[in-house]
Amino acid sequence: MSDNWKVGKQKQKGLRKESEEAVLVGLVTYDQKKEAVEEYLDELEFLALTAGAKTRKRFVQRMKHPDVRTFVGKGKLQEIKDYIDKKEKVSMVIFDDDLSGKQTNILEEFLKVKIIDRSTLILDIFASRAQTAQAKTQVELAQMQYLLPRLRGLWTHLERQRGGIGMRGPGEQEIETDRRIVRDKIALLKKKLLKIDQQAQTRRRRRSGMIRLALVGYTNVGKSTLMNRLTKSDVFAEDKLFATLDTTVRKMVMDNMPFLITDTVGFIRKLPHHLIESFKSTLDEVKESDILLHVVDIAHPQFEDHIRTVNLTLQELDSYEKPTLMIYNKIDKYRNQYFDELLEEEGKEEIMGDLMDRLSNEFQHESIYISALNNENIDKLRDKVKEMVEKLYLERYPHQTKRW
Ligand code: GDP
Ligand code: MG
Repeated sequence: MSDNWKVGKQKQKGLRKESEEAVLVGLVTYDQKKEAVEEYLDELEFLALTAGAKTRKRFVQRMKHPDVRTFVGKGKLQEIKDYIDKKEKVSMVIFDDDLSGKQTNILEEFLKVKIIDRSTLILDIFASRAQTAQAKTQVELAQMQYLLPRLRGLWTHLERQRGGIGMRGPGEQEIETDRRIVRDKIALLKKKLLKIDQQAQTRRRRRSGMIRLALVGYTNVGKSTLMNRLTKSDVFAEDKLFATLDTTVRKMVMDNMPFLITDTVGFIRKLPHHLIESFKSTLDEVKESDILLHVVDIAHPQFEDHIRTVNLTLQELDSYEKPTLMIYNKIDKYRNQYFDELLEEEGKEEIMGDLMDRLSNEFQHESIYISALNNENIDKLRDKVKEMVEKLYLERYPHQTKRW
């Protein structure tokens, strides 16, 4: 039965905006703090919302490792079922970790609602956000790679559920497939991607003489907003995760120095591995850039964790050593959160001073504090950017009397 399932017409139905309700499930292992899992679930809830589902309840269980059949233990599973049975509008359960095809199938049989894991959710968001042929192909490839090891368990699941979150399938038409077909499809998509990559490479080569800056950072920190500020362009910014998937490149000129600036897709913790794999070419923009602008949302309670995630990803891309400016964004929101009206100016300065000391101690690069939204310190940022670009120009073209 494993090699006979249907994907259905998911794509046509797609996202049903905030019409679905969800329950979240996370595990705490013994070496983890419960708060850490709550943080992951906060993020999962935001991911669900981005995909269009409201979260009704969270279930957390402390276990050594997930159950191979049911992920959580029997008692917890029954507790989840009792809850869902009472709440008619709950149409899905979202797990914070990846499930096997078998687990998905067993859980769905028992709970009688859609079963989704973190990867499926992210893939669903990516699928709805992909605009260009490249992004669409990358998402489709990631979906196929996710599916391949799960085919055995999944078929009834996919057969029965059509449309809605997490069910956006790899194909437009209804297709019957099996591992071999999926493998063929993967090969085909890889070929297609290679061709697109080559075209992108040619495009990049054409721009190769120019200094290139890339905006990097966790998702939703304000990269696109800042891009708009700096280039006075109109890149899509929204208070959602991965508002944009495609990289946008703009040309800027400062003091007669032309350079390019790229807005990239945001990084995230627990990003499914096959996604990193298939989005490699997008990340090439980061790899091939000369200067990084690492944007951080300091109003986010876990922003330091976010910085570490981004730094790790940069290390994987061999890009950590590039000249980097840390841009601590959303100071307006930070102040709103941590300053109250009773606090004296001095107290405010002390809080900011402490924060700055702490961050400059922990994270190496040069830094600046701004609000992209309120245009605060943007001129100073421009000056810093100009300085960095100028330095590179002088290194690259030392003999030119007119430096560029
Ligand atoms: P990206 O995912 O990094 O590209 O982030 P976006 O540019 O899409 O911004 C995410 C959300 O943060 C949007 O709702 C922005 O309006 C908001 N935002 C960006 N910069 C600031 C800022 O300086 N202050 C505040 N309060 N919000 C901001
Ligand atoms: Mg963006």
